[in-house]
Amino acid sequence: MMDKKGYDIFYTNHLIMPTNFNLPYEPENYWKRVPLEDERNKILAVAEKKLQMICEDILKGERKIDGTGVVGRLAGALQRKTYWIGNGYKSHFSVSKEKCVNCGLCYRMCPSANISIKEDGEKVFGDKCMLCVKCYNLCPVNAVLICEVSIDDKKYRRYKGPSKEFRPVEYRK
Ligand code: SF4
Ligand code: SF4
Repeated sequence: MMDKKGYDIFYTNHLIMPTNFNLPYEPENYWKRVPLEDERNKILAVAEKKLQMICEDILKGERKIDGTGVVGRLAGALQRKTYWIGNGYKSHFSVSKEKCVNCGLCYRMCPSANISIKEDGEKVFGDKCMLCVKCYNLCPVNAVLICEVSIDDKKYRRYKGPSKEFRPVEYRK
């Protein structure tokens, strides 16, 4: 598609990053779990090393297109299927009134302005969700739920970013 638009794609590669998508889905271990800190750091260290290699390749002007073979295309198709399954979860977002501390972060960081806050403080999810799971992962008290079962945040761990210093982008005040 990008070729048709006149872009010269000369390099593609991929990095394996920590899973940030741990939807409540049964059987329980169907989805890869969000890694704990040690495992996350190991995954990030490997990714960083590969990223350095990618940068060196690009600086050398190397031409390399990865992922266009049969395996790559199959993996891509499978990934899109996974997103399609996840799509069904968009209508299952809610906020636990017991847990929520009304910081408003979910509202400020939703990239599609899908969350509104009513006068009484209730959080309402619209129909523009793109399933980025920022609100679910980054609510400081894990009050955003996808299905009621995700109130168990030990079982359904949230991905809090690559380090303790990580702060999400906020789009509105
Ligand atoms: S980010 Fe969490 S605690 Fe803050 S308002 Fe949203 S749901 Fe409530
Ligand atoms: S998952 Fe992403 S797009 Fe959907 S409501 Fe949460 S922050 Fe917004």
